[in-house]
Amino acid sequence: MDFNKIKLKKWFPTIMKYLFFIVSLETIVLVMLRCPYVIPFLACDMCPVVDCPSKYYRKPFVAFIVGYMIIFKADFCSKICPFGSLNDILYKIRRKISKKPFKLSLETKTILNFLKYLFFVCAIIAIFYGNPRYYIPIHTSDLMTSLKLAYLAAGNAYFARLYVIVGALLLGLLLIPRFWCRYICPLGTSIQLTKKGIRKIKTVNAVKSCGDCSKCGKNDNKYN
Ligand code: SF4
Ligand code: SF4
Repeated sequence: MDFNKIKLKKWFPTIMKYLFFIVSLETIVLVMLRCPYVIPFLACDMCPVVDCPSKYYRKPFVAFIVGYMIIFKADFCSKICPFGSLNDILYKIRRKISKKPFKLSLETKTILNFLKYLFFVCAIIAIFYGNPRYYIPIHTSDLMTSLKLAYLAAGNAYFARLYVIVGALLLGLLLIPRFWCRYICPLGTSIQLTKKGIRKIKTVNAVKSCGDCSKCGKNDNKYN
């Protein structure tokens, strides 16, 4: 038995996951601090933020990720998404500080689930209205000056989004693992809803094609 091969097979998805994260780190920071669109990554081709790597590498990166997902049957949220990996890193830090789980009451969970669908609906509305740009980013040759100018030029919408992202990351670090993924991320919600839909269709088809055999016990009464 080749133990090196077995180890590599086991570690390969994790290595790739954190590799995706490292490669995307600059984009994550720039999207949080500079992306002028309500939904990032949709309008990169015409985006004025020329220092964001997504402007140039989004298409090949997405093609690579889709290929990787198909070949290795990798789940996007748990094995690829760089922002999900950031949430995982924060959770790992939290586990180092305290292993005690934080329990949410049923009421809080219901409110947070409502919040999740609220963000999802808001994202759909934003896309429906052409994914508006909510501030005009000014570009200078120095990234720090560009960030300072974004801070000065942006209005309430910019700060609202920044506070939601940073707040969710902090909650993920301090209390609830993957808070952003579980209760805010509209992309995560759409992936979840799609998966649920596919499962539902599969179940309906399975029930429709169910024969009259007695293997599962469903027809036991019929034959007794
Ligand atoms: S290129 Fe522009 S739109 Fe695309 S993610 Fe970066 S900042 Fe956002
Ligand atoms: S829920 Fe959103 S941020 Fe989290 S892993 Fe999925 S797509 Fe990424």
